[in-house]
Amino acid sequence: MSGLRERFEAAFMPNYGVPPVALARGAGCRVWDTDGKEYLDLIAGIAVSSLGHGHPALVEAVSSQVATLAHTSNLFLHEPEVLLAERLRELLGGDGRVFFANSGTEANECALKLAVKYGKQNGRSYFVAAENGFHGRSMGALSLTGKAAIREPFGPYAIDVRFVSYGDADALKAAVDEDCAALFLEPAQGEAGVVPPPDGYFAAARQICDATGALFIADEIQSAIGRTGTWFAFEHENAKPDILTLAKGLGGGLPIGACIAFGPHGGLFAKGDHGSTFGGNPVSAAAALAVLDTIDRDGLLANAASVGEALTTGLDAIGHPLLAGVRGRGLWRAAVLTGPHAPAVEAAARDAGFLINALQPDALRIAPPLTLTAAQARSFTAAFPAILDAASPE
Ligand SMILES: *Cc1c(COP(=O)(O)O)cnc(C)c1O
Repeated sequence: MSGLRERFEAAFMPNYGVPPVALARGAGCRVWDTDGKEYLDLIAGIAVSSLGHGHPALVEAVSSQVATLAHTSNLFLHEPEVLLAERLRELLGGDGRVFFANSGTEANECALKLAVKYGKQNGRSYFVAAENGFHGRSMGALSLTGKAAIREPFGPYAIDVRFVSYGDADALKAAVDEDCAALFLEPAQGEAGVVPPPDGYFAAARQICDATGALFIADEIQSAIGRTGTWFAFEHENAKPDILTLAKGLGGGLPIGACIAFGPHGGLFAKGDHGSTFGGNPVSAAAALAVLDTIDRDGLLANAASVGEALTTGLDAIGHPLLAGVRGRGLWRAAVLTGPHAPAVEAAARDAGFLINALQPDALRIAPPLTLTAAQARSFTAAFPAILDAASPE
């Protein structure tokens, strides 16, 4: 497979740059590149491959579904999508009505349309979201995204979004009033560097929305489906949103997003208000069912919590001038550095056979499959001091 990177560069738009490695295959938590070099996958395709690579349950569900019926469109219903919607409702306390999309951005687009409709029905004209938040790259999702570098080049936007400092409950209280249609928040900011808010922030957001009648919309696209050791991150503060969006880990690598609206909000759309040709297709739905079943059967919520703790304990025990600490929860962590060394540490980790992600100049994301074992986590924490040495400035 010679010159793949050069061929990629010539054939693709320059939006991604050229990735450093071409992956050829995976098995469990390991992947191999096209030169045959093996890596421990501690990023899982950005918190997506929840069961790792080639998991038998996922392979079986997808292969048999694609062989039976791969696509119906929404002109016809099929059993896997109904089973999946029912399963998600069951995990969410038996409540909620579901829309299936193909990605996180589209799940948020659905949530935004619901919120716009709610706003029009109730004379509520603006939205609130957090600075440095990330909600996707479509014009709707981008308008909610609080990162100037990715938002501003494509503005102005058609909807009025007011940004508040993330983690500051007083700022939320000041920003959300009776004219606000909806508040969009991540339970911890993923793309900003796996940044958790202070304890009580999500619960405060729930209360502020209850008091003002604004919809509370939780973007759990990165945080849900076991990532933090619970099915949904909002459970840590028992702050159930009015609308919940899911994607990344749900399909275990197959593309699927979901928007779930609770109570009366589940009925906001009228027939014809929204749709997707591929959304909830039988193959992605079968994959998501296999992911949920396997997490349940194999105790992967508890595994994410305990291996996540072991990983953090191991990293915390490393005294190294480059390493400032670890933040996050479950198997969703950032190793925080003392300076802008993340790209160098990512490269040194790769040389040592570990895939992690330089998410910010001073933060590395670790979001492995939920199947990661304690021994695999230890192999990384044991290797990390030498990786930091290799990445240290001369
Ligand atoms: C990844 C992500 C998105 C966008 O999802 P895509 O599948 O890339 O469209 C939106 N919100 C959050 C919090 C994310 O992490």
